[in-house]
Amino acid sequence: MNYLGFDAFEKSINETGSSVVFMAKDNEQTFLVISGENALGFNAADLGDNKYKAELNHQNACVMRKLFPFTAPVRGLKRNKSFGLGDRLGIATPGHVDLFAGKDVFPIFAQQSIRELNLTCRTYEDVLDAASFAVFREGYKKGFGADGDHLKTAKDVEYALSLGFTMITLDCSEHIKNDFIVNGDAPLPEHYTNKYLNKTFDIEGISLVFSEEELKQCIGVYSGAVVFASDIYKQFFASGKYNADFEISIDETISVTTPLQHFFVARELLDAGVSFATIAPRFCGEFQKGIDYIGDIARFEKEINVHAAIARSLGYKLSIHSGSDKFSVFPFIGRATQGKFHVKTAGTNWLEAMRTAAITEPALYREVHNYALSVFDEARKYYHVTTDLSKLPDIKNVKDEDLHKLFENNEARQVIHITYGLILSKKNDDGSFTYKDRLYKLWRERDGEYRSALVKHIGKHLELLNG
Ligand code: ZN
Repeated sequence: MNYLGFDAFEKSINETGSSVVFMAKDNEQTFLVISGENALGFNAADLGDNKYKAELNHQNACVMRKLFPFTAPVRGLKRNKSFGLGDRLGIATPGHVDLFAGKDVFPIFAQQSIRELNLTCRTYEDVLDAASFAVFREGYKKGFGADGDHLKTAKDVEYALSLGFTMITLDCSEHIKNDFIVNGDAPLPEHYTNKYLNKTFDIEGISLVFSEEELKQCIGVYSGAVVFASDIYKQFFASGKYNADFEISIDETISVTTPLQHFFVARELLDAGVSFATIAPRFCGEFQKGIDYIGDIARFEKEINVHAAIARSLGYKLSIHSGSDKFSVFPFIGRATQGKFHVKTAGTNWLEAMRTAAITEPALYREVHNYALSVFDEARKYYHVTTDLSKLPDIKNVKDEDLHKLFENNEARQVIHITYGLILSKKNDDGSFTYKDRLYKLWRERDGEYRSALVKHIGKHLELLNG
């Protein structure tokens, strides 16, 4: 709409004092406009006539978050339903806003791991600012969270918290001893014997009993992780200095977390005085990136019921990681947790962006697809996938109008899913990006299509979790 002579985003018009701040665009960029007696602290160019133009940079994002608190992340992990939306491109939030504005689910619009930061050449400032600016532009005022996802060091935790992230997911995998072998002769420390050995723990009618062997296994595999999480908690959370929720992640590891092990970790953390909102166990079967659940669904249902009961009775929520596209198990997750869960997605938002590219610019999609195939083996080093390239159709034989169907093929999904970093960073000899700039241009022009694709696809996740 035309507003004060600018091509303005209607929902972004906000008053503060005697000034008006809104977002507008011209052919080149999107920016903030301040109309009033001064620039309100924004680093802005004076356009004369009491108008100022401010770029969408980190400094201005910080000013905006202070002036308009609805653009700053808040805590929400303790709400019944929360949902993480890793937006690696920094362009998905408008679509997420369309979906979550009408849902009783707390969205974490900003969620990224350090691995993803590295692969996309972004910073946590970028991740947070993209979400804040989108929320401002779309006039979304229901609150959203920011998750420093899969952090492994105190330094990274501090980095995210100091920027105002409202959730930290502590990745304990480097402190989990998967290869631990129980030594039958080694004595059990008395502290553990008194607490657990041959005791029966009743969890909503389910009996958990620790045999000596199982207890030794729990201690051997997980006690390092408990110490690590306790240390991080004491360092950053105990004082209440940062207003953030704490998630314990023990999922990025080879061995499945049994219900007994889950109980042990939670009990030990609670007894050490650690307060946390969620735990992400490693469930049975496979939660591979961007495709449906692989494994024994009956066993999954049985185990998630116990995991959910443990979490409920000890006072926190289950967190389900790699939740993109796990359609066949969502109903069980919704039911077992009685509608109290945190589910994280990331790659599927990127895949919807690429599906949009396949529909709207087939020639560019073909180029990217062929490049992704050529670097798939390299990308595989960073992700666990069981992709069988022989099941992938040769796109030479796929008509333009059918290219989007590739996104119903697990092999194609995974090829595109795990190569995102290489696709976005590929450069030509002259130093320019081979695909990145062209893709972003497309997504800017086709914003409407990407938004509806996200509403439909992420909406399906929510429906099944609620059903
Ligand atoms: Zn995880």
